[in-house]
Amino acid sequence: VRNLTRVFDVSAPWLNRLIERKPRQSLRAVDDVTFSVPAGGCLSLVGESGCGKSTVARLVTGLYAPSEGTIEFGAEIDGAPLSAQMIFQDPYASLNPRWRVRDIIAEPLRELKLRDTEAEVRARVDELLTTVGLAPRDGGKFPHEFSGGQRQRISIARALATEPRFLVCDEPTSALDVSVQAQILNLMRRLQDELGLTYLFISHDLSVVRHMSDRIAVMYLGRVVEEAETEILFANPRHPYTRLLLQTIPSIENPKRQREAEGGEVPSPLNPPAGCAFHPRCPLADARCSAERPKVIALADGSRLACHRVEEAEAAALSQPATVM
Ligand code: SF4
Ligand code: MG
Repeated sequence: VRNLTRVFDVSAPWLNRLIERKPRQSLRAVDDVTFSVPAGGCLSLVGESGCGKSTVARLVTGLYAPSEGTIEFGAEIDGAPLSAQMIFQDPYASLNPRWRVRDIIAEPLRELKLRDTEAEVRARVDELLTTVGLAPRDGGKFPHEFSGGQRQRISIARALATEPRFLVCDEPTSALDVSVQAQILNLMRRLQDELGLTYLFISHDLSVVRHMSDRIAVMYLGRVVEEAETEILFANPRHPYTRLLLQTIPSIENPKRQREAEGGEVPSPLNPPAGCAFHPRCPLADARCSAERPKVIALADGSRLACHRVEEAEAAALSQPATVM
């Protein structure tokens, strides 16, 4: 994904604009985002709601067209039919309540004529149900007969029906209880190993993606502010926003921590602050931060960051004379 940008026209209808004398308004939901997901790996996009991560997911799966920038699939994924599939947040809304589970999972197989006979369709559905930890007899039931976690298993089975190589998972566990979340994440990791899947994983919660991801990109108001290997990000978060997100992970000892550390509201993406968009919430902000937008810089360990203060600190560290023993 290179320099991906998506602008939405969010103006009121023209007549209302005329009456209320309102100008056209546009929203840069995704602004110059660059990243890559290695085949067989998992990159997570993390950030608060409204940061543009779901828009990136929809751009990558082709549900939206980019305003600018490019999305390319490597040889691992290119060429295979329907190689990218998406798993959504709400497993109930994404399953047709009037259809039996068997028909929900069979739909892409029938639609794309991926099997020759109904017996083959049925065998494949049974196999998919087993793959996601359900029983073939569950195929005869309706979605409402299942728990949230089981419904997400059904969504995953349907997404796997076309044998995709690449799955885009938009908050697949955030509607689930914590204990069920772990089961679904474990299932997704197992499937990744067994089927050689590549994941782009979207979440608002760093703790959820920690054990899934090889790399994590943190987004804020449409831009990636820090991207690093998972280990590095947790051991040494450098961007002030990443640090804030890590502080807001609630712990058993301190469940209220979330509220205390919020550092104010996310500004509206319709009217983002000048300079570094994070400056109204940033404890390190200075005059430069409200005037000049930080560029994304690459660091020696492969991380990428957009922050004046980190950039200054890196430059100072590099200009230090080497210690002589
Ligand atoms: Fe904070 Fe400035 Fe860095 Fe933005 S550029 S994160 S405001 S220190
Ligand atoms: Mg979202």
